[in-house]
Amino acid sequence: MLQAPILLTPGPLTTSLATRTAMLTDWGSWDSSFNALTASVCADLLSIANGAANHCCIPLQGSGTFAVEAALGTLVPRAGKLLVLENGAYGQRMSKIARAIGRDVTVLSWPDGVAIDALAVKAKLQNDPAITHIGLIHCETATGLLNPLSEIAHVASNAGCELIVDAMSSFGALEIDVQALNLCAVIAASGKCLEGVPGMGFVIAKTAAVSLANGNSPSLALDLADQYDYMQRTGQWRFTPPTHVVAALRSALDQYFAEGGRPARLARYTANAQVLIDRLKSAGLALFLDEKLQAPIILTFHAPAHPDYQFTAFYNAMRERGFVLYPGKLTQIETFRVGCIGAINSAQLEQAAHAIVDVLTGFGWLDR
Ligand SMILES: *Cc1c(COP(=O)(O)O)cnc(C)c1O
Repeated sequence: MLQAPILLTPGPLTTSLATRTAMLTDWGSWDSSFNALTASVCADLLSIANGAANHCCIPLQGSGTFAVEAALGTLVPRAGKLLVLENGAYGQRMSKIARAIGRDVTVLSWPDGVAIDALAVKAKLQNDPAITHIGLIHCETATGLLNPLSEIAHVASNAGCELIVDAMSSFGALEIDVQALNLCAVIAASGKCLEGVPGMGFVIAKTAAVSLANGNSPSLALDLADQYDYMQRTGQWRFTPPTHVVAALRSALDQYFAEGGRPARLARYTANAQVLIDRLKSAGLALFLDEKLQAPIILTFHAPAHPDYQFTAFYNAMRERGFVLYPGKLTQIETFRVGCIGAINSAQLEQAAHAIVDVLTGFGWLDR
């Protein structure tokens, strides 16, 4: 069998053999051992966010977007108003969700690659006192930019607004303290920095907000208040749980803590990112973002300026060498993205950087 390719993407990503092996057991959905598994996973997710005092962890079947939609529908009351802070495709998706579920929504936007400005948010809140909630993307995966979470959290708290954070691509690697930052909710998923497999989202939310949220949700399946209530009463998921995904996440969390938890994970991803930046830069490929704004999660590079450059041919040649790249997500500029997350280390990123340079040079798109 050919060796599995290394996924340099923001998820699904490369997982460890132990994580994949954890899926070899079939679990009954109302067996007490499976309920214990769910409870232990939720307790650990809550502890990673320092949320044990005032928050709860609500898991949800589906990809990350399902959890974002569930969080907005459950936590923003029908009479509420949501301010979405956009500087990329995931911010745009959040406001699109809010409109689709009928919430009153207003948007502040910045161009791709420009960080959200907390002072502009403060001014917006002063000018529009109807705003009750703010939606923020922590790491905007479309570019890899890290938004200033704590500054925005302080602005929100001072204005008495609730902050809902899509931390899908940062949770588990970058610090998020829901208690210290007084966050209403943080949304993430099994298959990103925690290095589980995809299929389960989760929302870490203020328990008080969840208990006031009955009847908010425009959806039955995505009603987190109902999911939480049912789980509290029965220990079970409301509908068929993604049993193998939960078991894989349990194993992935064990490995996470054994590795040294969040600081160790961040250190590994930072080393991964640095190798790529150094190697590709010295080959003449430019990072799209200002390095100060770059999260060590996913990197966006300008494509070579050569007129014949084509992502598909580049992708296929890289795939043949055992690496899966990610296309750019910017409309105006030709870019490609390389993920730094997953069960991969800097030696593998070194090989990937070497292959990128070799392939692009081979096509004649990069000067030697
Ligand atoms: C991955 C991701 C999501 C969820 O995307 P899905 O395709 O639904 O898993 C949402 N927000 C951000 C910032 C992400 O990186």
